[in-house]
Amino acid sequence: MRPPVQSPEGLLLAGVWALLLDMALVFLAVVWIADGFAPPQDLPWKPLRLADPPGLATQAKFERAKLNPSACRAVLAQGGVRFGEAAPRTDGACAQLNAVRLEGGVTPLAPAGPVMTCPQALAYAFWDRHTLRPAAREVLGAAPVEVGHYGTYACRKVAGRDGLSEHAFANALDVASVRLADGRRVSVLKDFNADGEAGAFWRRARTGACRWFHVTLSPDYNAAHRDHLHLDSGRYRVCR
Ligand SMILES: [Zn+2]
Repeated sequence: MRPPVQSPEGLLLAGVWALLLDMALVFLAVVWIADGFAPPQDLPWKPLRLADPPGLATQAKFERAKLNPSACRAVLAQGGVRFGEAAPRTDGACAQLNAVRLEGGVTPLAPAGPVMTCPQALAYAFWDRHTLRPAAREVLGAAPVEVGHYGTYACRKVAGRDGLSEHAFANALDVASVRLADGRRVSVLKDFNADGEAGAFWRRARTGACRWFHVTLSPDYNAAHRDHLHLDSGRYRVCR
């Protein structure tokens, strides 16, 4: 009896199936190896953690967490950030929704206990942990112990424009100064454009902020920001 003869089309199809199966097996092996050996910050399917150093997947996971109120709070809580819920409130076109009151686990803000949206609180926690603290230690040789600010919520328009500011939604923070563990105090007004380490510190704090906040405005942007960094989590993207 003669063996059945395969048509050229049949052979080609069998070859394609074998190749696809091989590729699927290689993919699964890579995922399995990565899951066991790559750091969690490089893997999109591992949870975002404040304590992990920024990695390949951090940015994507961070932006995703900001869009989900419960995920945002879970990342803060898991990272040791203490916060309370801020009651929702509206004031004409202004509103304070999805907001928390920061109570601890981050470099304290002064005035204390500011209320801000959860995405903004998450951005502050990541900026504090991965930008501000390393910059202060490495450039100024001391840990930051307090961040002086000009506020988060203010029902107002963008200076000189018609649209509402992100401050109108408690979605912004104006950082003016940092007090260090050795008693020194550095400020945006006095030091941002200065030569030497205090200026280098502020410029690094600003540039690093662009990774965590959507809008970062410094004295480089305009004179209205000569004495603070405006940091917000609104829908625009500006880094200056
Ligand atoms: Zn501002």
